[in-house]
Amino acid sequence: MQQEVTETCTSFSAAVENTVILVDGLLKSIRHVYETSGTASVEQFLAEERLNGTAVVYFALASPDGNSFIFGDPGRATANLVDRPHFKVQQNATEDHLFIGIPNVGRLSRKTVIPLTRGLHLPTGRLGGMVMAGIEPSLLSSRFFDATKLGPSGVVAVIGLDGIIRAHGAAHAEGVGQHIADDSGLWGELARSDHGTYWQKSSVDGRLRRYVYRKLPDYPLVVTAGFAREDMQDRARARRLPYQMAYGLVLTLLLAVFALVLRQRMADVAVRHDRERLAAALTEIERHVYHDALTGLPNRLLLQDRLAQAIETARRTGQQLALMFIDLDDFKVVNDTFGHDAGDEVLKRAVARLRSCLHRDDTLARLGGDEFIVIRTGIRGSDEVAAVAGRIVDHLTDEIATGDRRIRVGASIGIALYPGDGEDVTTLMKVADTAMYQAKSAGRNTFRFFDVRTMEIATSRMRLEDDLARAEERGEFELLYQPKVSLRDRQTIGAEALIRWRSRERGLVPPGSFIPLAEETGQIAGIGRWVLRTACRQIAAWRQAGLPCVTLAVNVSALQLFDDSFVSEVAALLAEHGLEPSCLEIELTESAVMTEPDRAARQLQRLRDIGIAVAVDDFGTGYSSLSYLKRLPLSSIKIDQSFVRGVDHDADNAAIVAAVLGLARTLGLSVVAEGIESQAEENHLTACGCPVGQGRLYGDPETAGAFARRLSVEAGRHLAARIPTAVTPGR
Ligand code: C2E
Ligand code: MG
Ligand code: MG
Repeated sequence: MQQEVTETCTSFSAAVENTVILVDGLLKSIRHVYETSGTASVEQFLAEERLNGTAVVYFALASPDGNSFIFGDPGRATANLVDRPHFKVQQNATEDHLFIGIPNVGRLSRKTVIPLTRGLHLPTGRLGGMVMAGIEPSLLSSRFFDATKLGPSGVVAVIGLDGIIRAHGAAHAEGVGQHIADDSGLWGELARSDHGTYWQKSSVDGRLRRYVYRKLPDYPLVVTAGFAREDMQDRARARRLPYQMAYGLVLTLLLAVFALVLRQRMADVAVRHDRERLAAALTEIERHVYHDALTGLPNRLLLQDRLAQAIETARRTGQQLALMFIDLDDFKVVNDTFGHDAGDEVLKRAVARLRSCLHRDDTLARLGGDEFIVIRTGIRGSDEVAAVAGRIVDHLTDEIATGDRRIRVGASIGIALYPGDGEDVTTLMKVADTAMYQAKSAGRNTFRFFDVRTMEIATSRMRLEDDLARAEERGEFELLYQPKVSLRDRQTIGAEALIRWRSRERGLVPPGSFIPLAEETGQIAGIGRWVLRTACRQIAAWRQAGLPCVTLAVNVSALQLFDDSFVSEVAALLAEHGLEPSCLEIELTESAVMTEPDRAARQLQRLRDIGIAVAVDDFGTGYSSLSYLKRLPLSSIKIDQSFVRGVDHDADNAAIVAAVLGLARTLGLSVVAEGIESQAEENHLTACGCPVGQGRLYGDPETAGAFARRLSVEAGRHLAARIPTAVTPGR
C-alpha cells in the first residue's frame, strides 16, 4: 500500500509541477511580450496561441495602483485588486517569484480560479504591478491517477508553504482554503527532506492517515497523498492501474512538451511570429520524448503506451499477444573492447537485423543499452512466436562487420504471452524480463518462454546480486591457497589463490556460484581488485615470516584484463608491497583470452613487459585458435581437470593430454595438469613429461596459515636433507 501511495504522490506531484511550469512559462512569456511590445502584442500572441478560454481561464494585468484588466476582453472592464493577497504579495516583493494564490471568485471573470501571479519590471528597475493567470482548480486535481489506489478514505492535496490548502484531488475535500493543522507532522519532515512520509489526524474528518509528501523543487507547493489506517487491511486490489499510469504519464509529458515549446516561443514572439519554426520544434521535441536518439526506435515511454493499447485491443477482441524481451549477449564486452562508436554501430546493425525478422505491424522498441522489445499482436499460438524468436537469434548471431573488424554478438530472448502470463503492462514486462534471464542462464543465444520457476530463479539471482554487493565491506571474502607441485619431486613451487565467499546468510559459497554472476553484473571489477590486493599482501607476509619464495597465481576475468588501468594497478600493488614481479602469476581462462585475442595479446604483453607470468587456464574447454595461441605472450598452459580425470586409463584423455604437451613443447610453454586426484594419474603425467601438477593428491585449497606451515615443513625437510649425517663419537 505504501508503494502505491508513493506512486500516487509521485505522479500527482509531477502533474501539478508540469501544470505550474506550463502556466508560469506562459506568464513569463506574456510579461516579456508586454514589457517589450505592449498590450496589443500580448493580445495578438494570445489570439494566435488560442490560449484564452482553455483551462487557463484568463490572463490579466494589474498596474502598480492595483487596477486590472483581462487581456482580450473586448469590453475592457477593470477592477481594483489592491486588497487581494496575490496582488499585495507582488507589490511588496523584493525579488521576482511566482505566487500561487488560494482559489477565489475572480472580480472580473466571476469564476472560481486559482490565481498565479508574477511582478512586472518597472522602467525604474523595481517591481510593480503584476501579470496574472487564473486557472481552473481542476488543473491541480487528480486527473492523472486512479484515486482508488488510495483506498476509500484516501486523500491527496496541494498545500502552499504557508500551510493553506490550494487544491485536493480525491472525493474527500480536505478543506481547500483552510490551514492544515499547526501540529502537522509535515513541517518537521519538510525541514529535513523535500520528500518523505508523516502521520496526521485530519482536522476535517478526524481520521488518522499516513501521508507521502513531495515538495516541488522550484515552487512553494507541497503535494501529499494519504491513506487511512483502516483501509490498509481491507483494500480491494484493483489491477487496471498501469494502463492509467501510462496514460497519465503521457498526458503529463505532453504538458511538459507544451511548456518547452512555449519557452522557445517566448524568445521568438517579441521579434517575429514564426509558425513554421514552432511547428518543427513541436515535432522535434515529440521525437525526442518518444524515440531513442541512436536508433530512432520508439523508447520505453512510447513502448509502454503502445503495449497498453495493444493489451486493450487484445482484451476487446479476445486475441493473444506476445512480448519479447531481447538482450544482446556480450554487448558490454563489445563496448569495453572496441569503444562506444563501434558499440553504437553494432546496435544499429542489430536493429536492422531485428527489423528484417519482423512484420510491419510488429512494434520494435529500444529500452536502452542493448535491450529491445518486440510486441506482436494477434498471434495464433506460441509456435508462431517461437519461430520469430528463433529467427532473431539466428540473424543476430551472424558476424557483424564494422570497418575492418568482425564482431559477433548474440541475443537472449524472453517471451511473455497475454493473457496467460499477465494482463497488464508492468506484469508482462517483468515476466518477459525474467524469461530473458532464463535464456541467459540457459547458455545465452537462445529464447525462453516464461514459466513460474523462472520467476523464482530471477528473484534468487537478484538477492544473490544484492548480497554479493555487500560482501566485501562485510569482510565475507577470503582466499584459499592450493599448492602447485613439481611432478619430479612433489616440491611445492607455488600456489593458486582461490576465492571463497563466507556469507552470513548463505554459508560458504564456492566461486562457481557467484563469479559468473559478478562477471555479468560488472561486480567482478571490485572483487578482482580485492583478490589482487589480498594476494599481494599475503605474499609480502609470507616473505616477512622468512618462508621460501614461491609464485602465487591469481585468477583474472576478461573484464579486469581489458580494463586500461589493470596493468598499472598490478604494478602499483607490487611496488607497494616491495615484491618482484616473479612472485605473481596471472591465470586467464581460454575463453577470456580468445573473445578478443588481439586486445588480449596487447594487455598480456604489457604484463610480460613488467615481468609477470601469464597462464591460460582450463585449457581445452574453450575454443582456442592455435594461430592466436602462438602469438600470445603466455608462459604456461593449464590442462583442464576434465582431461586429467582418468588419464591413466581413458584413451581419449590420454591422447588430448599428449597433444597439449606436444603443443606446449613446440611453443616453449610450461604445462600444469589441473585436478590430479590419484597416484595413477600422476604416474601417467610424469611419464608423459608433464612438469607441474595441482590437485587433491597434493592438497585441496587451504588457508594461508596451512599453506605457510606446508612451506616451512618442506623447507625444514629440505634443510635436514642437506645437513651432513652426524659423526659417530669415538671409534
Ligand atoms: P580454476 O582457476 O580452474 O581453479 C581450479 C578449481 O579446481 C578450483 O575450484 C579448485 O578447488 C578445483 N580443484 C583443484 N584440484 C582439484 C581436484 O583434484 N579435483 C577437483 N574436483 N577439483 C579440484 P574452485 O576453487 O571452486 O574455483 C572454481 C573456479 O572459480 C576457478 O577455476 C576459477 O575459474 C574461478 N575462481 C576462483 N577464484 C577466483 C578469483 O579470485 N577470481 C576469478 N576471476 N575467478 C576465480
Ligand atoms: Mg585458475
Ligand atoms: Mg582451471
